[in-house]
Amino acid sequence: MTTTIKPHLDTIELPEGLLLVDGQWREGQDGAQWRHRHPATGEEVGAFAIAGPDDVDAAVRAARRVFDDGTWPRIRAGERIRILRRCADTLRAHADELRALQALDNGVPLSFASVYATSVDVAADAFDHHAGWVDKLGGQTLPPYQGGDHLAMTFREPVGVVAAILPWNAPFLLFAQKVAPALAAGCTVVVKPSEHATFTVIRMVRLLLEAGLPPGVLQLVLGPGDPTGEALITHPLVDKVSFTGSRAVGRRVVEASAGTMKRVSLELGGKSPALVFPDAPDVGMAGMTAMGMVTMGLSGQACVAHTRALVHRDVYDQFLDAAQLMANMITYGDPFDPSVLASPLITERQLDRVLGYIASGEKEGARLVTGGERRDGELASGNFVTPTIFADVDNRMTIAREEIFGPVLAVIPFDDEDEAVALANDTEYGLGAGLYTTDARRAFRLARRLRAGTVGINGFQVEPHLPFGGFGQSGLGREGGQAAFESYTELKSVLMPVTEELM
Ligand code: NAD
Repeated sequence: MTTTIKPHLDTIELPEGLLLVDGQWREGQDGAQWRHRHPATGEEVGAFAIAGPDDVDAAVRAARRVFDDGTWPRIRAGERIRILRRCADTLRAHADELRALQALDNGVPLSFASVYATSVDVAADAFDHHAGWVDKLGGQTLPPYQGGDHLAMTFREPVGVVAAILPWNAPFLLFAQKVAPALAAGCTVVVKPSEHATFTVIRMVRLLLEAGLPPGVLQLVLGPGDPTGEALITHPLVDKVSFTGSRAVGRRVVEASAGTMKRVSLELGGKSPALVFPDAPDVGMAGMTAMGMVTMGLSGQACVAHTRALVHRDVYDQFLDAAQLMANMITYGDPFDPSVLASPLITERQLDRVLGYIASGEKEGARLVTGGERRDGELASGNFVTPTIFADVDNRMTIAREEIFGPVLAVIPFDDEDEAVALANDTEYGLGAGLYTTDARRAFRLARRLRAGTVGINGFQVEPHLPFGGFGQSGLGREGGQAAFESYTELKSVLMPVTEELM
């Protein structure tokens, strides 16, 4: 029987596909609509308004007005904290509903939607965490450098109007990791979700309003990169663009920001390595974990997935056997079915790209161990590719260099530690890395030598308070923690004479 999501459309209430501009939910001015099709079945899920340049302009101007003259940047710290904590609680209380909407948006199965790294819980925790920074944003008081009677002080002030542009693959976490610190710092925010995960974000915005976020602090514009995203990143009244997505669009964001010197944070792609040594705690588990990371849940459509497994020759075959075992366990289909473990690829275009990379792997001489095909039969109308392992990969091959964003693991052998580090660092990216070893000295030594934003030793977790981001072309700046919070502020220095008149 062909997979269908129709029964779920009858039971799950989709939020209206409207823009939120200046506190009003409304259609786009030119009436254009985006029709969202489900990636697992190709069926139409629903439609939403596309924000054209005039809608984006109205949203940015409203955000500007609220920032310049409204209460949010000036509200008492205690009140801002209370509102953000209510946002966290409200998101948590609606976790089931949000997971169901996500399954209709991007096809991430319910079985995976509670895994902490991309869950509603981690999003709520991000709001709680950033709420905690509101009353701790101190400056410094410095002694006068050349003597004299004046005070030299620093203050952190909100950066202004923030454009938050999201990808489709982890809407709970990525919405929160931008919106929470920006709001905590006192900014106003214009959010643009991905056109492939819109309904989830509409509901999240509505929940923040229900939690008491004042009208106008958050604006929501919907639509694809062109026209909606372009209108946002080129708007002169936006002070900062916080972008998560592909490297290609990240470059465009940098270009477009140059005109008005917008502040920019970029969370981009990766080609992250996992280094597996013979003294790994459990080589079989390392193989299962590595393959699980590129298949379970998001089918490898995860920025920080360890898509290059660098494996010591002594444990190479054992690792490959375990990875294959995991590949055989992956199930696809209706995302609401609890036995389904992995999502489809997000679009047919992405499916074609992944199949193209698989063809290039075969052409360039890598050994296809398993997978490599589009799924047929009852999954034929969805964008499904079987879990794929390439062995004997050379790090110069295309499948070892480019972000595939699909269920493909490239396994590369090595002989010693220096070779493993050289291979790991031989990439334009630098988002994450994994190490599997029981030698604590090796673990620490290599954690320092690897050029990656986050190194996981014998495991990996996303933490809402731990800075996350990339070296090299994986991005600019960090999300999570103090570094992220400060990136939504400007640093101001104030000099004040200490004279009788002022005392
Ligand atoms: P994408 O770059 O295609 O789109 C991301 C967002 O940018 C979407 O909202 C899209 O509509 C918008 N956009 C597209 N063109 C635009 C333009 N010209 N101007 C402004 N906005 C534009 O990426 P995607 O397919 O949604 O997501 C996958 C990518 O995101 C992968 O490369 C992945 O590695 C990356 N990612 C990175 C992280 C991280 O934290 N580093 C997290 C998740 C995803």
